[in-house]
This record gives sequence, C-alpha cells and structure tokens, in this order.
Amino acid sequence: MSEIVVAKFGGSSLSDSTQFMKVKDIIMSDPRRRYVIPSAPGKRFNKDYKVTDLLYLCHSHVEQGISFEDVFKILSDRYNEIINDLKLDFDISKDLKEIKDNISNGASKDYTASRGEYLNGLILSKYLGFNFVDATDLIVFNKRGRLDSIKTYELIKEKLSNLDNAVIPGFYGLSYKGEIKTFSRGGSDITGALISSGINATLYENWTDVSGFLMADPRIIEKPKHIKEITYRELRELSYMGATVLHEDSVFPVREAEIPINIKNTNKPDHCGTLIVNNPNEEINSIAITGIAGKKDFTVIAIEKTMMNQELGFCRKLLSIIESNGVSFENMPAGIDTVSLVIANSELKDKLDNILDEIEDQLKPDSLLVYPDMALIATVGKRMNRQKGVSAKIFKALEKENVNVRMINQGSSEINIIVGVENSDFEKTIKAIYNCFISKTN
Ligand code: ASP
Repeated sequence: MSEIVVAKFGGSSLSDSTQFMKVKDIIMSDPRRRYVIPSAPGKRFNKDYKVTDLLYLCHSHVEQGISFEDVFKILSDRYNEIINDLKLDFDISKDLKEIKDNISNGASKDYTASRGEYLNGLILSKYLGFNFVDATDLIVFNKRGRLDSIKTYELIKEKLSNLDNAVIPGFYGLSYKGEIKTFSRGGSDITGALISSGINATLYENWTDVSGFLMADPRIIEKPKHIKEITYRELRELSYMGATVLHEDSVFPVREAEIPINIKNTNKPDHCGTLIVNNPNEEINSIAITGIAGKKDFTVIAIEKTMMNQELGFCRKLLSIIESNGVSFENMPAGIDTVSLVIANSELKDKLDNILDEIEDQLKPDSLLVYPDMALIATVGKRMNRQKGVSAKIFKALEKENVNVRMINQGSSEINIIVGVENSDFEKTIKAIYNCFISKTN
C-alpha cells in the first residue's frame, strides 16, 4: 500500500503569500503529502491580528448592534492580498459577500469563526491544484455535541479514498442539526489528526513556526537542546506542565491508530523537527531525560497524622472536602503518616480557609501546614526508569544550588519526577536540573 502523509499547516504557516509559497514547495517536494489541512491566516508580525480573532470580533459587533464593516474589510483585504500576490485566477468576492451577509443576518459564532479556515482552504486548493473537500462532509458531531468518531472515520474513508489529493479546512465540522460547529481554539490540529486516522496515514505532519519541542523553556535556558523524538506519554507529561505546541485533543486519534506525528517548521523545512511516537527508537537519544517543564502558583496543603495509614477512609474524607468546595487538585504525594495536596492557586481562590477548617474539624490532623506560592517542575524521560541515580543527580544538583525541595512526587509510570519548590526558585531549579544532565559540550 502506498504511503500517505497528512500535512496540517498552522496559521503562521499561511499568514501571507510568502508563507503560501513555502507551503506549496513543501507539498510539491513529497508526493506522499496528499491531504492538506489549513488553519486560518495567523499573525504576520507581533502586533498583527489572527483572522479567526477578527471573525469573532465581527460576530460580537453584530451581537451588540455595532457595524462590523471595518473589521470585515481588514480580513477581506488579507485574503484578496494573498490571492493577488500569488497571481491566482480566483474571484473570492462572491464567497466574501455571502459570508458577510450571513454574519450580518445573525449567523452563529461557530459559523462565523469557521470561515477563516474555509476561505483559506479554498485559496490553498486553487493554489496547489488540489481538490477542495469541505470539513462538513467529513467531520460530524453527535446529539450531545461530541465528535461522532465512528461516522467521521467512515465518511473520511468513503470520501477521501478515491481522491488523489484534497485540501480540507481545519477547525470545524457539522453538528447533529446540520449546523457548523467548531472545535476549541487551535482545533485544526484535531482535524489533521482525525483525517490522518480516518485515512490510515503513515505520518501526520504538523507544520508550525518552531522546529518541534525543546528540552526546556528557551526563556529560562539559553539555547536548550532540541528533542528529536518523544513518546506520546512523555508529551502528555510535558504538555500538562505547560510545554504546548499541539492541541491536547489532537493526540488521541493518532495515538490510538499508532500514527506518528512530526512537528515541523514551515520556515525551516529541512530540519527534522520532533517525532512523536508510541514506541521509541532507543538509539536516537542516550540522555536519561527527555525534557523539563514546570508551572508556578500552586498551594501545598501538608497533613500529618500518626497512624493515618490505619485510619479507614482518611483520604476519601480529605478528597470529599476538596470536592465539596468545588476545587480540583493536581497532585497528592503521600507518605506513611503524611499526605499533601497540591492545588493550583487559580482553583483555590478564596476557598482555602474553609478547606482548612473542614480538615481540622473532620480529620483532626497532628499538623496542618500550608505552603503558598509553590512551583512544580517535572523532569520527564522514558529512559529514567531503567537508569540508576537519576533522582540522586537531580537532588544533588538542587542541594548545590541551595533550593529547598518542599515536595517530591514520582508518577507510577516512573517516567517523571516532580519537585515542588518555592516560586522564587523556579528558574534556578530548571537551570540546575538541565545543567546536571546536559553538559555545555553536549
Ligand atoms: N483558527 C483557529 C484558531 O485560531 C483554529 C486553528 O488555528 O487551529 O484557534
């Protein structure tokens, strides 16, 4: 069977005619790239607007009874400029007029937002000479507003298998009622994943403006090493801690179908990017860790009670206190007589005093301590569980830097070690961990 690559291009990859030209070169350089998913035009420079944001603005203007003429003109001009610069023989004015009329007649927010991808898809299909297949013909949602994956995959197979190529706009599909429904922001990644899975692609390429993942945040570590390959599980751990390039929901369909994702840079197409796989290629990387990521602003509630382990229902009662206060927690490291709850400050808001009172009343702990303004830092690596001394190395490095570790947690999968430190030690901790695994000459 011949290989199929599905290529999704993000907004920055299709923000103007120069970017369209790069995309065409990429598609034409590999005949396996048969199905292309575009986002709406993104920012061309820092203070520029994304077309999707302009469309949302049009919709809210109509809702408030304000004219959206000027905003619509900005986005129409952008599409016309792309078409003119590419010297395309394509008149988009009819489509723009129809969309404008629909918006002014009260079209839904989802319909309005989806037009950014729709128009970009029309232009890209003309430019590439590819078929245009609307996402509403392929991606469908059920009565409860959830993706109907069975029907979606059936439609993708049925409608795309006979086409040599197609451009399918990202970000939306068709609701049960036959109306346009969008995914959450950044959702073109999901469209790409669904098409990849439905057509049983060999590879899902996700083209953006960075060459994949870095081992640490470049705002903290100067020129961090690039991650060549990462497993889905490692990616989950790192993106949970804030290292995001992909929409979270886009991972599931391809992971399930065992299709690797390659994050690639439209501006540096020869760079290998980052490959996300189920089964790692052991030879690729010998460093014990894959990446480091962290988040600030947590509160740790530390509880100690002698013989806690023998007290039936202790943790259940603790968790029901948290639940009844409408708070969710991130982590719950436990010892024999101790248990801590790590909660994001944004979750806790003004509920902390009430939670502490209820813990005192119902659980009668020997000690109850609160550490505010904590940061969590995760060191992630699939090779960690097979190498000795990884945690010793981390803690030695932190001791040397005089960082006070307030909490330690290792997930049962043994692919991460999470430390809790004070917010003020956040950057220092990441630097210390990074430097103890990556020598300057590495
Ligand atoms: N254009 C949409 C957004 O800005 C979807 C996407 O780009 O993936 O969120």
